[in-house]
Amino acid sequence: MVLTSYGRSSGFCIDPIEKKPLNHFLPGTPVLSFGTAGCNLACKFCQNWDMSKSREIDTLADQALPNDLADKAVSLSCRSLAFTYNDPVIFLEYAIDVAQAAHDKGIKAVAVSAGYICQKPREVFFKYMDAANIDLKAFTESFYKKICGGSLQPVLETLKYLKEETNVWFEITNLIIPDENDSESEINDMCQWIVENLGCSIPIHFTAFHPDWKMQNHDHTPAQTLKKAREIALSYGIKFAYTGNIIDENGNSTWCHNCHKMLIKRRYYEILEWHITQNANNEATCSNCGTRVEGVFEANHGDWGTNRVPIKIMM
Ligand SMILES: [Zn+2]
Repeated sequence: MVLTSYGRSSGFCIDPIEKKPLNHFLPGTPVLSFGTAGCNLACKFCQNWDMSKSREIDTLADQALPNDLADKAVSLSCRSLAFTYNDPVIFLEYAIDVAQAAHDKGIKAVAVSAGYICQKPREVFFKYMDAANIDLKAFTESFYKKICGGSLQPVLETLKYLKEETNVWFEITNLIIPDENDSESEINDMCQWIVENLGCSIPIHFTAFHPDWKMQNHDHTPAQTLKKAREIALSYGIKFAYTGNIIDENGNSTWCHNCHKMLIKRRYYEILEWHITQNANNEATCSNCGTRVEGVFEANHGDWGTNRVPIKIMM
C-alpha cells in the first residue's frame, strides 16, 4: 500500500490550541493545523465532511514536506503542529515524519483523532505524539455501528493505552447530538467508565453539534444539555469538565477541583484570567490553594486569542 496523500494537504491554518480542543496543553498558544483527505470512519454527522469525504485530488492542492512544515511552524511562532480536520491515523506515515521533523526544531506534535485504530499502528503512531484529543463519539456500540460505521471497543482500548502505556497528554471530546447520544444514562455510563479506567484527571469536553453532512434533520445541541453533561462528569469526580462550541463562562473556564476557585477564565478560546502558579518542581498549581493542575503548563500562557489564520506553506 502506498500513502498517496503523503506531503499533500487540504490546507493549513493557525488556530488556538484550545480549538483542538486542548485546555491543559500550553494554553493560549498558536498551533499550525492541517489535514489530508479521507477517513476510516463514516460519521453521518461529520463536521469536516468536505475533507473527510473527499476523493478529489483538488482537496490536496497544498503541498508540504515534513521539514517545510516544521520550518513554517518555527517561523510563525507556533508551539505545536496538529494533525486534524480528518483522522491522522489514515496518514500515519506522513504524520510521524512531520512529528519527527517538528521535534528536531522544538515543536510539539498534536493528534486530533477518533482513536479508532488497531493495536500495532496505535503503538507506532502515539510514540511520536506529545498530546492528543480523542473523540469519544458516544458510549454505545450501536451508535458507532449505525452512525459511524465503526465500533466503540477499539476507541476505549486507545484511551486505556494512552493512560497506561504512554506519556501523551490527552483530553477527550464528546460531541453531543440530540436524540442520538444525549441521554443522561449514557453520559453516566461514559463518566463512570472514564473514572474507573482513566482516573479523574483527564479533561473532558462536551461539545455542541451543528447540523451537517447527512444529519441535517437534527437540531443544534441545547446549551442546557452540555451544561448538564458537565455537571454529571463533575459529580463522578472528574476534575476538569468543559462545555464547547458555546459561550459559557463556567464551562469554558478551568476550575480548581479542591478549592473551587477559577484557575483560567476563558470566553470561548480566549484566556481572560490566569491564576496558575508553578511550584518548585515546575508543576502547575492553583494560585489559591497550591493543588496540582494536571497538564502541560508553563509559567505564563500564550496570547494567540481566538485568531484563525489560513496560510500557505509553499513560498
Ligand atoms: Zn485551589
